[in-house]
Amino acid sequence: MQHIASWSGGKDSTASIILAHEHNEPLDLIIFSEVMFDENTSGELPEHIDFIKNKAIPIFESWGYEVKILHSQKTYLDCFHHIATKGKRIGRKLGFPMSGRCLINRDCKMPQIRKFLNEINEEFTQYIGIAVDEPVRMERIANSGNKISMLEKYGYTEQMAFDLCKKYDLLSPIYDFAPRGGCWFCPNAKYAELKHLRTNHKDLWDKLLKLENEPELIGHKWNILTNTSIHDWEERLYWEERQISIFDFI
Ligand code: SF4
Repeated sequence: MQHIASWSGGKDSTASIILAHEHNEPLDLIIFSEVMFDENTSGELPEHIDFIKNKAIPIFESWGYEVKILHSQKTYLDCFHHIATKGKRIGRKLGFPMSGRCLINRDCKMPQIRKFLNEINEEFTQYIGIAVDEPVRMERIANSGNKISMLEKYGYTEQMAFDLCKKYDLLSPIYDFAPRGGCWFCPNAKYAELKHLRTNHKDLWDKLLKLENEPELIGHKWNILTNTSIHDWEERLYWEERQISIFDFI
C-alpha cells in the first residue's frame, strides 16, 4: 500500500504533511500539480511557486519524502485560445473561464493528477488537506474510499493548520496578503489578491489586460458572472493609487 499526499502548498495540505512527519505516518510520495499560464509561465503566483520549489520541497526532501511536480498537456492559454467547434458560438475563442465552473481546474490541473494515480499499479491511500471545521468537504471524502484527512485524524482546524505551518516556517507568502491561494488569473480572486498582482507583478497583470482586448471572445471579460472586467479593476486600482499619492503629498 502506497501513501500519497496531494499538496497545493496551501496551509491545509502543508499541515497534513507536517502531521504525517510529526507522527511518523507512512508517506511515500507528495504530488503537486502546477497549472501553467503558458509553456514558460507558471499559473501560480511567483512568490508561491518560489516557496514550493525553493523552500518547502527541500524541507520535505530533507525529511525523506519524494516530491513530484505534475504538469498538464494544456496551459491556460491553450484553453483561452481554444475555438468552439459546436453550439451557437462556433468558430469563436473560449476566452476567459467562468468563475464557479472553472475549466482550468478540469483541463489544466486535474487530468495529470488522475493520469498519475491511474498509472499506479498497487493500492494507495491519498492524504487530503481538509480540516475538521470543513464539514461539507469532509463529508465528500468520507465516501471516497481511499482518501484520508490527517487534519481530521489529529483534530486540526484551519486555524490550527495555519499555526502549525507557521511554527515550521512553512507558510506560503500568499497568506501575507490573502486568505486563499489559487492561480494568479483566477476569476474568483478578490480585491486583496488583485491589488497584490497589480502592485507586485505588473507583467502578469498586463497579460490579463492584453487578453481582454482580444475581439470576439466567448468569455469576453475576466469575470463573466459578476460582469467585471480586468479593465474595470485597472481603473479602480489606478485611481486608488493616485489618491494615495495625493494624500501622501498633502
Ligand atoms: S484557482 Fe481559480 S483559475 Fe485556478 S483552477 Fe482554481 S478556480 Fe480555476
